[in-house]
Amino acid sequence: MYKGTNASAGIGIGKVTIVEEQELVIKREMVTDSAVEIQRFKGALEASMKQTEALAADLATRVGEKEAEILNGHMMLLADPILTGEIEGMIQNDSVNSEFAIETVCTNYADMFASMEDELMQQRAADMRDIKTRMQKVLLGIQSVDIASLPEGSVIVAKDLTPSMTAGINPSNVTGIVTELGGRTSHSAILARALEIPAVVALTGILSQVKDGDRIVLDGSEGMVIVNPEDEVLAQYQGKREAFLKEKKELEKYMGRPSVTKDGVCVELVANIGKPEDVDKVLQYDGEGVGLFRTEFLFMDRNAMPTEEEQFEAYKKVAVALDGKPVIIRTLDIGGDKEIPYMGLEKDENPFLGYRAVRFCLDRKDDVYRPQLRALLRASAFGNIKIMIPLVTCIDEYRAVKALVEEIKAELDEKGIKYNPGIQLGIMVETAAASLIADIFAREADFFSIGTNDLTQYTMSVDRGNDKISYLYSTFNPAVLRSIKRIIACAREAGIMVGMCGEAASDPMMIPLLLAFGLNEFSMSPSAILRARKMITEYSTQELQAVADKAMSFATAQEVECYMKEFVNS
Ligand code: PEP
Ligand code: MG
Repeated sequence: MYKGTNASAGIGIGKVTIVEEQELVIKREMVTDSAVEIQRFKGALEASMKQTEALAADLATRVGEKEAEILNGHMMLLADPILTGEIEGMIQNDSVNSEFAIETVCTNYADMFASMEDELMQQRAADMRDIKTRMQKVLLGIQSVDIASLPEGSVIVAKDLTPSMTAGINPSNVTGIVTELGGRTSHSAILARALEIPAVVALTGILSQVKDGDRIVLDGSEGMVIVNPEDEVLAQYQGKREAFLKEKKELEKYMGRPSVTKDGVCVELVANIGKPEDVDKVLQYDGEGVGLFRTEFLFMDRNAMPTEEEQFEAYKKVAVALDGKPVIIRTLDIGGDKEIPYMGLEKDENPFLGYRAVRFCLDRKDDVYRPQLRALLRASAFGNIKIMIPLVTCIDEYRAVKALVEEIKAELDEKGIKYNPGIQLGIMVETAAASLIADIFAREADFFSIGTNDLTQYTMSVDRGNDKISYLYSTFNPAVLRSIKRIIACAREAGIMVGMCGEAASDPMMIPLLLAFGLNEFSMSPSAILRARKMITEYSTQELQAVADKAMSFATAQEVECYMKEFVNS
């Protein structure tokens, strides 16, 4: 039995499929017969073209012609006689191995494209790197796993999954995910919860304990993994699985009920989403709106930025589907662990403290921020959209975004384009700085949403994805709890709405504390909403005051958590 971090609830039972996207190590090697090596290269080129062709055909039927176009572009690059001629020339003249010649020639081209300002050229650089890896993988005999078409009953075991890989998973085939890296709040874990696939992460060394086809059981609520279990253990987990699904069924009776405490305090239970399609899940679980739409997912998994028009359609779709219920849309929050290759962001020394989120957007007003804000304003004519700014640290940033929004409103007025003139502009409170001056922000911002995933990271100075120091990453730490309590108090004093969209908002041990502090809105993965509603209806905020006072008197996160566990289970 192995213990990792619980990342997405539920029991997964199935067969291991190892997903390995290994980093290629390309060495320069001398070859004695260049003619034979050129034949080897030609063989790899042909195989790569066949692979690409098959991928394009599959993508065209499964997703659409437009998406398949990207791969048709790769075919053209592979068929380019100048490129292949240069590679063959290098093998011939320098007597080097194909892998090295491909590395050198393709990287030269990719770097040249990447140095040009033009967006299309940036795209071509990414494409060039892609075909380079594909050819090298063929030569090295490394199989790429097609994550979207794994066999039914697969449990993915991987070093790590990128958010775009996780998004490509087909939940009807994948019954579980186990990774060596990542944490509860890494974006692949958040996506696993959205897809309702049980997941265990941060399980160091698991790859050396399994092989393809092994029987595997995972408990995503407890963070447990068992490889090749005995029959009776398997039966026990099958029972657990049924119980989990039964509880899920029971929670359905909370559908359509108000989210109100025993003493009549009404809160909003809303959902976190990443794509317009996620709205179906919000409605399925009776979400009262959207508390966080992470728009960066619209920018991922593609070769160029979505246009203003595409963004407008995406935001409008969510606003219309929610039919007047609040929809908080967060402007682009990239950087940190969320990379978008075509944006041309250089790797920061310190990505979480670097050039990202609102800092990046305010620096790229014309090509990034204006189109997004314009799309949001235009979509606001079709529903109850609110705009939220991520990673704010000082009031100047808020004012700069506000001024930009006002400018765009004036442009829209001039053109007679409709939008909601009263649209709210709020902030994520997720940095230590924003928390410390929450009273100042509360005078100008229309609402707050506490991002505990980052607030914990920045308050505790602990990288949210680093499992070596994950023992420090706890929202129950008195430092983080004091910060949360004060942020809520500042918002309440100023009379603005205060919500929470970090993972803590759905933590059963945290919910009673947040109710006592006076949180107005809880935003979480859609599948967590009904359990949260059940809890909320069982408490009285009056009675919770003493519990919160006691919890705040402890010195360590462990003591708070233990106390809350005892209280919740009593
Ligand atoms: C947060 O930081 O709590 C949050 C909700 O945003 P993200 O997880 O996307 O950084
Ligand atoms: Mg954040």
